[in-house]
Amino acid sequence: QPLIEFNHVSKIYKNGTVGLKDINLTIPQGEFLVVVGLSGAGKSTLLRTINRMHDITSGDILIEGQSIIHLQGKKLRQLRRSIGMIFQNFNLVKRSSVQRNVLSGRIGYYGTWRSILGLFSKEDKQKAAHALKRVGLAEKLYTRADQLSGGQQQRVAIARAFMQDPKIILADEPIASLDPLTTESVMNDLKKLNEEFNMTVIVNLHSVPLAQKYADRIIGLRAGELVYDQPIANVTDAD
Ligand code: ADP
Ligand code: ADP
Repeated sequence: QPLIEFNHVSKIYKNGTVGLKDINLTIPQGEFLVVVGLSGAGKSTLLRTINRMHDITSGDILIEGQSIIHLQGKKLRQLRRSIGMIFQNFNLVKRSSVQRNVLSGRIGYYGTWRSILGLFSKEDKQKAAHALKRVGLAEKLYTRADQLSGGQQQRVAIARAFMQDPKIILADEPIASLDPLTTESVMNDLKKLNEEFNMTVIVNLHSVPLAQKYADRIIGLRAGELVYDQPIANVTDAD
């Protein structure tokens, strides 16, 4: 059984724009999937339907065989907790410490009042320190997020996603605002989560060469349609 399944999924925004058009797609557990396409092709829309940041207009999306499109309340929160999201603009709390930003990945595991008070367990603090070490930022624990470089901030965001113990990581153009060197380190961090923890990673990218370097499989979108779907072994420069 695939981890994620799209059955005839379409998304039309309220203003009539087609986001996705009749997408059929199965994503196995543990895959590193890269979604490529021009700006406006529907990559971000596709990612955001998986954690229900966007609702679809027709079709169905299944995760582990269960439809997610009508989930509400506690079930919806559970879904979102099991999915880590990484954004182009990092989405950190700029004036908070790196440690606090990383710990916020744990928030769904507490009652609301504990989260607001920032009462995290010793285990969680150790886990946060460990997560930061993994992305090479052990010494930045108490640094304010906005004092880090873009690449460092993105690695904090990856550590935060890791804190969620997610099954799935969605990364929406995670390297769009980074220089080439930083880009490789961020892609490597995502690849490590995929390989060492068997997390399923779905990344939107503009760059086909970068997709070829890291992906198990590449899919292409154009104007909301799936126009390309190949395991990496079959990708040639002619594509
Ligand atoms: P949904 O159908 O998922 O509820 P909406 O159509 O309500 O989405 O739009 C969500 C938000 O995105 C709105 O605040 C809207 O202003 C904004 N938005 C509108 N057009 C675009 C666009 N082309 N790209 C990104 N965001 C947009
Ligand atoms: P990509 O991530 O590939 O750049 P998107 O998924 O952001 O593409 O956008 C797909 C299409 O949907 C584009 O035409 C975009 O303008 C439109 N779109 C995205 N978000 C919204 C929104 N909230 N409301 C209306 N249109 C949107």
